Amino acid sequence: METNLFESVRENICTCIAGPELTPNLEAVLKMPMKELHISIPVKMDDGNIKTFQGFRIQYNNARGPGKGGIRFHPDETADTIRGLAAIMTLKCALHELPLGGAKGGVVCNPKSMSEGELERLSRAYIQALGCFIGPDRDIPAPDVYTDEKTMGWMIDEYCRQTGKAEFGAITGKPISLGGSEGRHDSTARGGWFCIREAARETGIGIEMKTKTYPGEYSDKSGEPAPSAVIQGFGNVGYNAALIGKEISGCRIIAVSDSRGGILSEEGLDILAVIKHKKKTGSVQNFPETENITNSQLLELKTDVLIPAALENAITEDNADSIDAKILAEFANGPTSPMAESILNEKGIHIIPDILCNGGGVIVSYFEMVQNLNLDHWSEDYIYRRLDEKMTGAYHRVLEYSKKNSIPMRMAAYTIALEKVIDAMTARGWI
Ligand code: NAD
Repeated sequence: METNLFESVRENICTCIAGPELTPNLEAVLKMPMKELHISIPVKMDDGNIKTFQGFRIQYNNARGPGKGGIRFHPDETADTIRGLAAIMTLKCALHELPLGGAKGGVVCNPKSMSEGELERLSRAYIQALGCFIGPDRDIPAPDVYTDEKTMGWMIDEYCRQTGKAEFGAITGKPISLGGSEGRHDSTARGGWFCIREAARETGIGIEMKTKTYPGEYSDKSGEPAPSAVIQGFGNVGYNAALIGKEISGCRIIAVSDSRGGILSEEGLDILAVIKHKKKTGSVQNFPETENITNSQLLELKTDVLIPAALENAITEDNADSIDAKILAEFANGPTSPMAESILNEKGIHIIPDILCNGGGVIVSYFEMVQNLNLDHWSEDYIYRRLDEKMTGAYHRVLEYSKKNSIPMRMAAYTIALEKVIDAMTARGWI
């Protein structure tokens, strides 16, 4: 059955709240986006024809500050997916105590079939169409699926041309030369691994992370194989998750995948070599001395840590019963449907919910905004330390709330986040 992300998040808003009573008035505000812009974007293609793309920018709730959220370029994009993702951003920013609201954008297009010139013209036209809907004190976009720092470079240039100001804080995830932050490129994955480290301590798996001050001995349990991890998705979040998991957390990355399928090696993959192979061939599949597997087989592998890092609804009631992991770390947004969640909870899988687990991206985006507003540039070391503090702090707030109230991790995370959004709405006199 097709799962609608917006409906899933709306359901979670109602069912995953353990603290404040959700009155009909509150529910009405929390279950709808506050502002939506739907645009048609004409772009001149390389063959001289004009193609019109459909785009969106949705600001879900700005009670706690300006909207923040990525921009996706994807052929299957829908307004409901963007609404769901914008709602998730609202809760994520609140949970991680960032002074930001939640937003998301998207364009229905297939970047894989477009030239670089076409993508640049589309990116610029998208920003022109958004006009004053965005800005450092209104709504600040960033990269997401099939957009990257190059896309953000074109977009910030277009934004600055329009406003006539070098206002670099209007977009994050930019190249370093345009006010981008150290550590932003792998911040989502790194932040997620900080959570896994804490969850592994909690579940007794034993995963540590090397740092400059802790050059690290991994949990070497005399001859036992290193803890295993399986990763779905090999884009910005997925391949950095694989690299950090192997090189810094000392895990065996036994399987990875992209949209075409996956590969398996019980001994653990050489991630740098897989990255090279994907660059050369366009896919992780057919990597020497590994077994090709499908994305559904990958999700059902026995492993210590399962990391969905692709799209939403990877785990539904159809496959939840076959998930065989100790920790499910949601690096992707919305990878688990509400029905699947109850099955996983019954199986005793420790879930690190998306709004907690993948907050590293928006945290370093926030650091980027602060640096831009102060015309400053922080060191990578400082960023990693502050990111660790924020992720580890949030993980333990959620864990403690979950234990104290005997509720699942997602419910604890949603409750903490919703309380903060409701407090801000109350203080503003909205409710
Ligand atoms: P990306 O475009 O860089 O990579 C997406 C990857 O998913 C690609 O490897 C693609 O091949 C793979 N993929 C697409 N469809 C798939 C399918 N059906 N099965 C398996 N793999 C598939 O995107 P990204 O930035 O890495 O984002 C991945 C996820 O992480 C998304 O859910 C995104 O919302 C979330 N996220 C991203 C960030 C960020 O900073 N980029 C922050 C928070 C959350």
